[in-house]
Amino acid sequence: MMTLVRSGMLRFFSPSLSHPHTFSFSSSSLSIPNPPTPSLPNPLSRSISTHASFQTQLFIPPGIQPDEVDDSAVLPGSNIAVGPYAGDSRIKEVEFVKSSSRAKDCPRDDRPEFAVLGRSNVGKSSLINSLVRKREIALTSKKPGKTQLINHFLVNKSWYLVDLPGYGFAKASETAKTDWSSFTKGYFLNRNTLVAVLLLIDASVPPQKIDLDCANWLGRNNIPITFVFTKCDKMKVAKGKRPDENIRDFQELIKQNYKQHPPWIMTSSVTGLGRDELLLHISQLRNYWDQ
Ligand code: GDP
Repeated sequence: MMTLVRSGMLRFFSPSLSHPHTFSFSSSSLSIPNPPTPSLPNPLSRSISTHASFQTQLFIPPGIQPDEVDDSAVLPGSNIAVGPYAGDSRIKEVEFVKSSSRAKDCPRDDRPEFAVLGRSNVGKSSLINSLVRKREIALTSKKPGKTQLINHFLVNKSWYLVDLPGYGFAKASETAKTDWSSFTKGYFLNRNTLVAVLLLIDASVPPQKIDLDCANWLGRNNIPITFVFTKCDKMKVAKGKRPDENIRDFQELIKQNYKQHPPWIMTSSVTGLGRDELLLHISQLRNYWDQ
């Protein structure tokens, strides 16, 4: 079982929100149960339960007290407790709304939104397609130098899933890199309806500097963030580390930049690991935001 340490209290301010998100942490330790679907081909859940021992704070959403949280309230493969705001998380319909080349061109109807961000090749398109259960709805351009667009998808006519341009193209020119940075940073700093950024991190490779830089920038700017670890089905390659070891290393490296540890969750677009859990997490943040 994975041990989590819960402590302290976090007031999660976003400059873009009309009210603060308050999330709290208790000080006891907690075990994450194995996923409730034993039939799922999910080797990681076994390796996590037998090998992982990293410590991280539990994320307790609004509406629930730390002492009310027991093991069964924590989403498998994450540090996220489920609270009373977690409603129906199913995606019944999704429609592409528009691509915007500037933050100020994004939809202005005040619906809450979740932005998906990650290094090129992290598995962003695969995750979005898996979340909405549609093949190739996310077809963002993968070529450096091509126009970078913010793509808005309207889910259940009530909230947006936003596909942001990937960062870190190995072959991108300096101009393209700078463009990405000013373009996307403008979005983060000016988007009033942004509930949280889902920052995708590839768990099949060791922590990458560019991901750490991105996480730290978001943290410094008080942008609410959830770490979504991708490719957690990929087992150790040659002398590489297992996904849970890479996740532990990543958490260690960002720890000093966060007073309270952000929510995190393990996913795989191949096995479906973490999909329903991530949707539930989104649902409780969204329902609270809607209050
Ligand atoms: P993007 O550039 O971030 O949109 O990444 P893609 O979704 O196109 O995925 C990049 C590569 O990683 C592709 O070869 C995918 O098949 C692979 N991939 C994506 N998600 C997963 C996953 O969960 N597990 C594994 N094993 N491979 C994945």
